[in-house]
Amino acid sequence: MLDLAGKNALVTGIANNRSIAWGIAQQLHKAGANLGVTYLPDEKGRFEKKVRELTEPLNPSVFLPCNVQNDEQIEETFQAIGEKWGKLDILIHCLAFANREDLTGEFVDVSRSGFATALDISTYSLARLARAAKPLMTEGGSIVTLTYLGGVKVIPNYNVMGIAKSGLEMSVRYLASDLGPSNIRVNGISAGPIRTLASSAVGGILDMIRHVEEIAPLRRTVTQNEVGNTAAFLCSDLASGITGQIVYVDAGYEIMGM
Ligand code: NAD
Repeated sequence: MLDLAGKNALVTGIANNRSIAWGIAQQLHKAGANLGVTYLPDEKGRFEKKVRELTEPLNPSVFLPCNVQNDEQIEETFQAIGEKWGKLDILIHCLAFANREDLTGEFVDVSRSGFATALDISTYSLARLARAAKPLMTEGGSIVTLTYLGGVKVIPNYNVMGIAKSGLEMSVRYLASDLGPSNIRVNGISAGPIRTLASSAVGGILDMIRHVEEIAPLRRTVTQNEVGNTAAFLCSDLASGITGQIVYVDAGYEIMGM
């Protein structure tokens, strides 16, 4: 049975009720995990308010700001978790960012700073958070990140985010190798296209979803909850032998050649 009772889970990347991280948080909670939530702080505190209200029913026992470009905030987050929980079992890395102008047109036009920003937030952050989490995963652990087919195949407009996801998927393998001896598993979920705040920045996202609905074996795209269910499985003891893998939750789209 899928049972996460007694497990402490930190979920990053909730922005609103469409966020994939929200789907994951709900499924982890349903399976009995004790939740911690981080949000991206902004000057007016709008994200904080929204994420606090949204997640209240799940009773997160840790609720902290964490911009993954800010090492101090990362350290403070994991220090607070160490003090409050003693140990961490689950880390959900469910965030990404690229400038809107780099998610349309041609990849050849990407700027140096746009490339660096996308890779710093979307790729490097996984290794950085894993490094901070490792000392707290004293009884082993599970780290799950979110990726997309655009990191493996060319998808129009995905551009620099494809490079970021490619690096992220390779990071999953290197981290799985590094952390495996500590019984920490690292996996990625490659989700089909879902309408969210982040995906709305990718040019032509609605066309992408329509295309998937026509072509995918299940003739539809997937929901946040379906991704959440797979994340809960990967974080559970049912998946104790799985690490370094990318699991496609995409209604089968990835297998199609034509
Ligand atoms: P979303 O906009 O709900 O989530 C993106 C999150 O990233 C937000 O919560 C935002 O606050 C956070 N974020 C951005 N910059 C940050 C920073 N510097 N520090 C901390 N957090 C930061 O969109 P989503 O689609 O749920 O995205 C979640 C993950 O799923 C991303 O990695 C995305 O690439 C991936 N993904 C999305 C889809 C899709 O179609 N929506 C498909 C496959 C993979």
